[in-house]
Amino acid sequence: MAEISGTGIGQGIAHGPVATMAAGLEPPSDAPSKRTPDEEKQAVAEAVSATAAELNARGERAGGSAQDVLEAQAMMAEDPTLEESVHDKIDAGATGEYAVHTAFAEFAEQLQELGGYLGERAADLADVAQRVIAHLRGVSAPGVPEPGHPFVLVANDLAPADTALLDLDQVLAVVTTEGGPTSHTAILAREKGIVAVVGTGATGLEDDQIVIVDAENDVVIIDPSEEQISEATARADARAAAQAAPITPGALSDGTLVPLLANLGDPDGAAEAVELGAEGVGLFRTEFLFLSNDEAPSVESQKKSYVDLLAAFAGKKVVVRVLDAGADKPLPFLTDEGEENPALGRRGIRALSFHEDILRDQLTALAQADAETDADLWVMAPMIATIDETEYFMNLATELGLKTTGVMVEVPSAALLADQILKVADFASIGTNDLVQYTMAADRLLGSVAHLQSPWHPAALRLIKAVADGGQVNDKPVGVCGEAAADPLLAVVLVGLGVTTLSMSPSALADVRAELLKHTLQDAQRIAQAALDTGNADGAKSAARAAA
Ligand code: PEP
Ligand code: MG
Repeated sequence: MAEISGTGIGQGIAHGPVATMAAGLEPPSDAPSKRTPDEEKQAVAEAVSATAAELNARGERAGGSAQDVLEAQAMMAEDPTLEESVHDKIDAGATGEYAVHTAFAEFAEQLQELGGYLGERAADLADVAQRVIAHLRGVSAPGVPEPGHPFVLVANDLAPADTALLDLDQVLAVVTTEGGPTSHTAILAREKGIVAVVGTGATGLEDDQIVIVDAENDVVIIDPSEEQISEATARADARAAAQAAPITPGALSDGTLVPLLANLGDPDGAAEAVELGAEGVGLFRTEFLFLSNDEAPSVESQKKSYVDLLAAFAGKKVVVRVLDAGADKPLPFLTDEGEENPALGRRGIRALSFHEDILRDQLTALAQADAETDADLWVMAPMIATIDETEYFMNLATELGLKTTGVMVEVPSAALLADQILKVADFASIGTNDLVQYTMAADRLLGSVAHLQSPWHPAALRLIKAVADGGQVNDKPVGVCGEAAADPLLAVVLVGLGVTTLSMSPSALADVRAELLKHTLQDAQRIAQAALDTGNADGAKSAARAAA
């Protein structure tokens, strides 16, 4: 029995026989063309437009964000720069096939060198090239296998065209050797609820071999035992039951309430969050509304978005965070572009206090929206590091008419000073994404230090406990709104550490709700202590599992 590790997408688990994605087409030969350049160009033009039409049609069938992805691929196929490069190669004597093959590969390489999001688009481009070449040859494009029974799809990386149209009755899970957590495979798998482990590296898996794909634990188990299969089945059944369970207020099994809130970046997401049982909003990321603005938004335009949001949550708590500009979320009107190390620069509250007029406008818009709606509006500031910053924000927000004002704890100094900060602030919300990044000195965007970015690390857990303790002595609520709250077992640990509310992307609510219902407060405290008593993230996770 062996295991392959990768990055699990979501919390699912599934098992079944492997079916491997068909290999790509034979690469075209570089022998000179026997046709005229015009004939070759004509054939390529027809193949490209047939490919684009096919991708658009598949997009239309798939709908949703899959459609956007497929339409973007169709546009890639017809990109004029690529066409120019193909024509140059044909003029130099290449066949249409060879010209497409090399021009697309060169472009993909450029994207890969850029890395990040664009690098991950390289796979999309290779897929488009294969489709065009298949058209030129008059053969069908390589695609998802059809073994005639449900299967675990194993591929290098799935093209969006394939992921979007996967037959979910047939595909039990997906394993890809390439691709990271932001690849299209991952994005679409998350949206469609497909169990997936991506970026495993070479798997050596063969067709019909049985595997368990365990996204929650980031592994693929090869040739599992009967016992492992029954455990996997039980977990899959429990998860299905949890997803279908009636929506109840977040609570532990002893009745201790743990309100489950939504993280949103746009009022448009409110309806879905309510449907999935969000008991309010724990983090509204206002900067997401203005990422494409060159100038600061007016009071009037902001107010409209806030009214929409608050109206969707009448009678419920809505925590709005003022603009968190900087680092990975620069806003041209707030961010200093010249910083060498923007994650440690003038971001969050530092940028806002430097541009106090913008902060005043935002707080004014929020107070006006609050006056017109019936939600319970709480407002908080990002990246608070000191008591002075806390007082500054509280005073300004109070002056401008806001009732409940608090801080995000994302900087270790704020966690260490939480008992004093919470004397001043009405509440704290722990942003574990940044808190872990700053505690471990590991850039949250950098794959090469991903092993240091776990919110399970006992160093992070100790800081979270310090904040929860600060809340308890001052009788103030302390929530968590970072990704940590979306991990069901970690959510239990957070509650055991003294956190009072959990906020997460709405798709995670059902899993967290179900897990909380399995433990009493005393259990949660014991599980949290087991995790705290370890020396590293893996140890904390295993200890929590054993204690649970
Ligand atoms: C966090 O840092 O955990 C957080 C919730 O804020 P963001 O992810 O927007 O930085
Ligand atoms: Mg943050």
